Amino acid sequence: MITLMGKKVSEGIAIGKISFFKRTTKEVKQIYVKDVEKEITRLQRAKERAIQELKSLYNEAAAEVGEANAVAFEIQQKVVNDDDFNRMVTSIILESKLNAEYAVMEGTKSFIEEGLTAEKGYISGHEIDVKDVSTRLINILSRNWRDKLLIDEPFVLAANELYPSETMQFEQGKALGFITRYGTINSHTAILARTKGIPAIIGLGDALKDDYAGKTVIVDGFEGKIYIEPDYSTLTKMQFKQDSNLAVTQNLERLKGKENVTQSGQRIDVCANIGGKEDIESVLRSDAGGIGLFRTEFIYMNRGKNMPSEEEQYKIYKNAAEAMGTQPVVLRTADFGDDKPIDFVSGNDQVETFGYRGVRISLDKEEMFLTQLKAMLRASAHGNVSIIFPMITSLEEIAKMKSLVKKAMDMLDYEKQDYNKEIRLGAMIETPAAVMISSEMARELDFFSIGTNDLTQFTLAVSRNNEKAAKYYDQKHPALLKMIRIVTNNVHLEGKKISICGDLAAELDMTEFFIKIGIDELSVTPPQVLALRKKIREIQ
Ligand code: PEP
Ligand code: MG
Repeated sequence: MITLMGKKVSEGIAIGKISFFKRTTKEVKQIYVKDVEKEITRLQRAKERAIQELKSLYNEAAAEVGEANAVAFEIQQKVVNDDDFNRMVTSIILESKLNAEYAVMEGTKSFIEEGLTAEKGYISGHEIDVKDVSTRLINILSRNWRDKLLIDEPFVLAANELYPSETMQFEQGKALGFITRYGTINSHTAILARTKGIPAIIGLGDALKDDYAGKTVIVDGFEGKIYIEPDYSTLTKMQFKQDSNLAVTQNLERLKGKENVTQSGQRIDVCANIGGKEDIESVLRSDAGGIGLFRTEFIYMNRGKNMPSEEEQYKIYKNAAEAMGTQPVVLRTADFGDDKPIDFVSGNDQVETFGYRGVRISLDKEEMFLTQLKAMLRASAHGNVSIIFPMITSLEEIAKMKSLVKKAMDMLDYEKQDYNKEIRLGAMIETPAAVMISSEMARELDFFSIGTNDLTQFTLAVSRNNEKAAKYYDQKHPALLKMIRIVTNNVHLEGKKISICGDLAAELDMTEFFIKIGIDELSVTPPQVLALRKKIREIQ
């Protein structure tokens, strides 16, 4: 048995086989699949996606180099829909029970070798395009880590580090836990693991060897320890710990439907933070009082330069609003940048670009921002929706945000679309500047939420993603607690409400303090909601 120590990121016990995540897999593996229907569906989705990408490539190329030169992308779309091509690919999946990536690779070879390209007028002399579209399909199929791993059994995902966009794709039930060599506990990757309730440990360093792939591991997310090839007594002990944890979670279920009220009658709202539509179900299960923070930037990730349209976003936000009924849904406008880069903005430069984030990017990308605002406003016709702006540092930014909201409303009026004209607008308090001008801000906006994750990094001069300085990242530093108290008073003096949606909100040794200073709402990950309710109800 090998025991390794890392940093705990998300609590819980996971027991399973280690599977290493590799970001770039050039080689297409031949994998036997039990569920051929699933492979056919994957292939179908990849084809739809390829058509979408090829259409936009055609339009881009036609505009830049003329229609005659864009024709390759038209031919490639025809290949995707070609009956013979599809017959060859699907027969490999159905008859040989092999994975879609491999079937596309082999099907393409046969398609070319059997001379079909020569027979078909439209692709004659365009073999290169057949190969190109085949690579596109394979890439789409393997863009998703689930598909790269392609194992049926649940597993513990191991990696050097994971990007937030990759963590976003965790399929609950299949990825039992995650362990990484590097990373920091307050990165967005870590937050997402907590949101999804997946036990996770980071910072295991090079002691986490590639050779451990396929070996059984126990992830103890409570202690930050992993046990590779555990001995019998450790396995039994950990299984017991896993069962007791499950019992604790089940025991919390009895608190569903109960109020978040202390013994002496003080109330505080408890809401949930989410990163995508797939988290809504766990919010409903958690019995949270609403969605206190919807990190919408994740909707933009994993899709290259292909931005989500107004319609696509509208459906996602509307679905959240309708799912929550009369309960509040706080939609945060996209907070890209730092460890959440998107291709559309400026490639990976954003990772290194300190401070180029949140509303700063929104103001530079007005068209993209208006698209998002319109989608959010339209969703407000279907529930209790409000909008919050991230990374605000000045009153000028607030004025600009308000004028852009007005512009989006004018556009919707012109298009005769419904929305809530009285929609509430708020700001994240996550920079020291915002703390210092919180009184003035409270006169301009309807509500506020303290983002302690960023407020900590900007106050204590320590990046959330810097492993070396991680020990200085102290969310309970007296300076932070003082700031929280000051902001709360300033906002209350203007008769407005304030919540905390940073990770500090879930620290149960802070709950009493938050209630004492009058915080109106705490917003935590869905798996943390009931434990927080229990804590509140125990407080005198
Ligand atoms: C925060 O900074 O505390 C916050 C809630 O926002 P994010 O973690 O998404 O930066
Ligand atoms: Mg933040």
